[in-house]
Amino acid sequence: MKVLTEPFRIKMVEPIKMTDEPYRKMALQNAGFNPFLLSSDDVFIDLMTDSGTSAMSQNQWAAIMIADESYAGAKSWTRLEKVVKDLTSMPFILPTHQGRAAERIIYGLLGGKGKVFLANSHFDTTRANIEFTGARAIDLMPEESLDSFKYLPFKGNIDLDKLEIAILEIGAPNIGAIIITVTNNSSGGQPVSMANVKAVRALCSKHGILLILDGCRIAENSYFIKQREAEYSQWSYKDIAKEMLSLADIFVMSAKKDGLVNMGGLLCLRNEELNQKCVNQLIISEGFTTYGGLSGRDMEAIAVGLEEVFESDYLEYRIRSTAYLGEKLKEIGIPVIWPIGGHAVYIDAKKLFPKIPIEQFPGQRLVCELYTVGGVRSVELGSVMFGKNDSSGSLIPASQELVRLAIPRRVYTQSHIDYVVEVFENIKELTTAEKGFKIIYEPPFLRHFTARFEKLYS
Ligand SMILES: *Cc1c(COP(=O)(O)O)cnc(C)c1O
Repeated sequence: MKVLTEPFRIKMVEPIKMTDEPYRKMALQNAGFNPFLLSSDDVFIDLMTDSGTSAMSQNQWAAIMIADESYAGAKSWTRLEKVVKDLTSMPFILPTHQGRAAERIIYGLLGGKGKVFLANSHFDTTRANIEFTGARAIDLMPEESLDSFKYLPFKGNIDLDKLEIAILEIGAPNIGAIIITVTNNSSGGQPVSMANVKAVRALCSKHGILLILDGCRIAENSYFIKQREAEYSQWSYKDIAKEMLSLADIFVMSAKKDGLVNMGGLLCLRNEELNQKCVNQLIISEGFTTYGGLSGRDMEAIAVGLEEVFESDYLEYRIRSTAYLGEKLKEIGIPVIWPIGGHAVYIDAKKLFPKIPIEQFPGQRLVCELYTVGGVRSVELGSVMFGKNDSSGSLIPASQELVRLAIPRRVYTQSHIDYVVEVFENIKELTTAEKGFKIIYEPPFLRHFTARFEKLYS
């Protein structure tokens, strides 16, 4: 069958408001031309993130009703702990309110001045939590992966040669950990191969360095491994994930992605001593060990979500529906990162708007056009998010100027996606625009969330 069908039917509906272009122009101006500052009520199709935006299943809602809200030793905790132990083979499981809380705990303990973290790509909150401790975060992507349009089956892989050189130059004792993010969010949602993680594991063992798996999309990564890594073509998605997790010392997960829930996170460890330090931090800032930052109902929903996410009907629909949007955009000439990743379609805004200088943020222009023309909210992943200012205030640009259309799980239907494609077709200066934006306010960390802009075109 060619038609992509959702493997579910709709039992409850959430109305979305339709607005017109003059209304959206005003709303965007009031938001300082930063879609993060828009009211979601003014957004028609929200592709800002796949994080915490999943639709839960009837089984998740049913589990919520039987949750145990006891402070200590709740049944809902026992259920979640069992599911996560089975998946990770790790003995120590800490629940946190979301991924970055787990990051703050672990990088607070492993980081500090003089420490260096090496990763395929550090996600923005990962980098912020590392740099906040005074440590450095270095991305080690292969040069060929930076070619936006080159097909590579595992474009999220870390560069093993660069990694080996970095370990020798920096010295193992100065390395806080090596982090592998699956799928690689900051570089196109691209998968990492099992062979790559195995090779990193070998280097970690050889040099006595910790391996952290930032695996909030580990089910989606498993899909690509089954399709593209011959050795695993007969494995179940869950067994592939288990195999990858067995290679890591520490697992950090934002449950807001493949946990199929709206809030939650996990920090899982093998080392008892390190776990004890993490537990102390957890109790100070998140909560007691059997709930962390979560209520019993959150834990029930995660426990069910972590089972559902590995179902083959779900995963196949999930990855194919993301590819559907990417392929349609490619057909109408939009420069999409190729191949299409798991949770999102990424557009190379520098290629789409070659005349807009990087200092005027071509990605921000696209994000604002998509909202104004169609009420579609997306996010810039370029020099607004990852750029920095040098001491004289000039921009040190990011390595790429991307815009991400993230697909919430089980939320939008094929007709919504067809609408998004039409919005692109209706952008007037698509490809010929010459001007973008200037930042007029920015905070010291994670500036993209609250920055405000001045529009440099009419
Ligand atoms: C979302 C995400 C995080 C942070 O998780 P939150 O739940 O948003 O705090 C960390 N790493 C990656 C790769 C992510 O995608």
